[in-house]
Formats: sequence, structure tokens, C-alpha cells
Amino acid sequence: MNILVTGGLGYIGSHTCVALLEAGYNVIAADNLSNSKVENINKIKQITGQEILFYQIDVVNEDSVNRIFNNHKIDGIIHFAGLKAVGESVDIPLDYYYNNIVSTMVLARACKRYGVKRFVFSSSATVYGDNRVPFIENMELLPTTNPYGETKAMCERILSDIAKVPSDFSIALLRYFNPVGAHESGLIGEAPKGIPNNLMPYVTQVAKGKLEKLRIFGNDYPTIDGTGVRDYIHVLDLAEGHVAALENLKEGAHVYNLGTGQGTSVLEIVKAFEEANSIKIPYQIVERRHGDIAECYADVSKAERELGWKAKRDLVEMCRDAWKFEKNYKELVES
Ligand code: NAD
Ligand code: UDP
Repeated sequence: MNILVTGGLGYIGSHTCVALLEAGYNVIAADNLSNSKVENINKIKQITGQEILFYQIDVVNEDSVNRIFNNHKIDGIIHFAGLKAVGESVDIPLDYYYNNIVSTMVLARACKRYGVKRFVFSSSATVYGDNRVPFIENMELLPTTNPYGETKAMCERILSDIAKVPSDFSIALLRYFNPVGAHESGLIGEAPKGIPNNLMPYVTQVAKGKLEKLRIFGNDYPTIDGTGVRDYIHVLDLAEGHVAALENLKEGAHVYNLGTGQGTSVLEIVKAFEEANSIKIPYQIVERRHGDIAECYADVSKAERELGWKAKRDLVEMCRDAWKFEKNYKELVES
């Protein structure tokens, strides 16, 4: 089967290409390289011993997308391509709405035009807003505090409406919790541009000495130790979740949480990272970050029940693999 992976050279996309190749699929990746590097094609080949086909295109461009469908029989799409920085989305909302929503509509139209029935969409736990934890798929969605989150909620609604029209269109809307870590080879991983916004890449850069200390955003939340709690999931587990979703698609649109179901605080992450890698992470408690919620973790029973998928890797592996990639990254890319 030929799977089109948009955003396939990005952080989650590249790991999913690996998981797809290992599961026996042919992969056609489409990416405009706005947040990734073309070298990832070789890294994927190094890891799997297999080739992917690559199109450097913008998926908001309908002609470019149609070209792929004219050249190949596509059996399914996994749509990762999107802008994802929460803070940036507040500053440039139009770019976020245009890129994330138009790309989804262009791909859905291509599915109709070319008779593609399988669609997997990257959504986010952010669509739950400030609901009560654990977040469960049938909860009413609350407004998010930023345009990025709104693009995910809107795309979910658009795809759900499309799937209501009688047809055999099957869509999985995957709500990711907090993906961290990297492939155990250390070849592919998360390499944010500039100063990282997310916790784990910030921690790895402190470990490396690129940043002086971690700033922990608030220790007065109603959580186990006052710091924010999230559901961190190893990116390889997440990648495997996409293969499971693709293989268990059913007619209509169906939502699945992809997380571990475990909440971990910022201080617990610092401790786990220090223990896993024998490196001290200096930190300082600062003000809460605007828009943050206290706790975010998943009820993961639906994915386990319907997709037969469950995250397997623990916090030690997440911290170890994140650090392995960060250490390697200098030699591979920065030098
Ligand atoms: P990423 O930025 O590493 O990957 C996205 C890829 O899409 C990049 O390679 C980028 O170059 C490409 N891209 C963006 N717009 C494009 C366009 N118009 N045409 C072609 N390519 C385009 O991000 P990621 O962390 O791998 O996230 C993948 C998806 O998962 C995104 O949709 C993101 O919103 C979603 N998501 C991510 C997280 C997370 O914490 N990483 C959490 C929830 C949801
Ligand atoms: N966080 C922090 N310092 C940082 C980055 C994040 O204390 O430099 C905290 C943040 O407040 C939250 C948790 O770490 O409680 C996870 O943040 P991240 O941005 O990685 O994910 P999100 O908030 O989007 O779930």
C-alpha cells in the first residue's frame, strides 16, 4: 500500500515514516521543509534500509498535491503538515489558519477526486482546553487559548462533517498528548529552530550547555508538586499508534487519544532526566506561562480497545533517547 505522509520529514512524521516502512508500507513523503531538513530522507534510509519517495511541495497548493495523486495510486494519507508553535500562532494567526486549514481541505478534496478512503489526521490534546482530567474522547471541547488550538478543533469539525456524508470515507482524528524522545539510533529527533518552547528540548539544551538553566513556569498549580502535569509519550510509540490507526480505520470519523494515560510533573521530568542520563539540570522557578493549564493527561482506553495499541516505552527511555539525539545532533547537523 502507498501511504502519502504530509509533513513526513518533520519530528513525528519522520518517525512515522520509519514505523510505516517497518510495517511493510510504501511511503511517499510531502514536505515544504519549512520546519525540517531534507537530510532526514537519508536518516530514514539509514535506519530502515529502505527508500521513501519525496516531494518538496506545499500542501496548500492544490496543483502540487494533485500531481502526487496523478503520479501514484495513493491508498491512504497521514496528514502531519502544519504549523505548531502555540505562541507564534498568536502573533501570526492568519498564517496558522491558512496553512493548517487549507492544507486539510486540499487533501480532503484530493481524497474525493481520486477515491482515497483512508485519512489520518494529527490533532492535539489542546482541543480539550481546560476540561477535567483525564481527557476522554467524548468530552465536549472547550475553547483553546490560541489560534493553533483552534485550527486543530476546526479541522476536526471539517473532517467529521465530511465523513457524515454517506460514503466509505474513514478518518482517524488522533489527539496527541506530549510527544518527546527520539529514535533510539539518535539519527532523527526533535530539532526546534531557536530557543525551544517545549519542555523536553529545553531540558536537553540545558544538559548540553546551550542554555544556562531551565525556567519552570509556576510551582503553585494544584498538582502533586505545584508544577504543570502532562502526559509525555515516546515519539516511537506515537508513530506506531499511526500504523495501528491506519490498520483499524472504520467508516466515519473517529477520535482517539494517543498518550500513556500517566501524568508527570515538570519536576518529575527533571528528576527522570537527571537519573536517566546522570546529568544535573539547573532550574529556577518563574511565573506561570500565560495560557498554560495545570494538568493534561489522557484516558487511553479507547485506543487500546479499538486500535489494539498501547504506549510501551517509559519515561527513562524518553529521557535517554531525547538526550542521545541532542548529543548527536551537533555532529550531524550543526557542524
Ligand atoms: P514538525 O514541524 O516537526 O513537522 C511538521 C512538518 O510539516 C515540517 O516538516 C514542516 O516543514 C511541514 N509543513 C508545514 N506546513 C507545510 C505545508 N503547508 N506543506 C508542506 N509541508 C508543511 O511538527 P511535528 O511535531 O512533527 O508535528 C506534526 C503534526 O502533529 C502537526 O500537525 C502538529 O500540529 C501536530 N501535533 C504536534 C504535537 C507536538 O507536540 N509535536 C502535539 C500535538 C499535535
Ligand atoms: N515548561 C516549563 N519550562 C519550559 C517549557 C515548559 O516549565 O521552558 C512546562 C509548561 O509550563 C508545562 C510543561 O512544561 O507545564 C509542558 O510544556 P510544553 O510546552 O512542553 O507542552 P504543553 O504545555 O504544550 O503541553
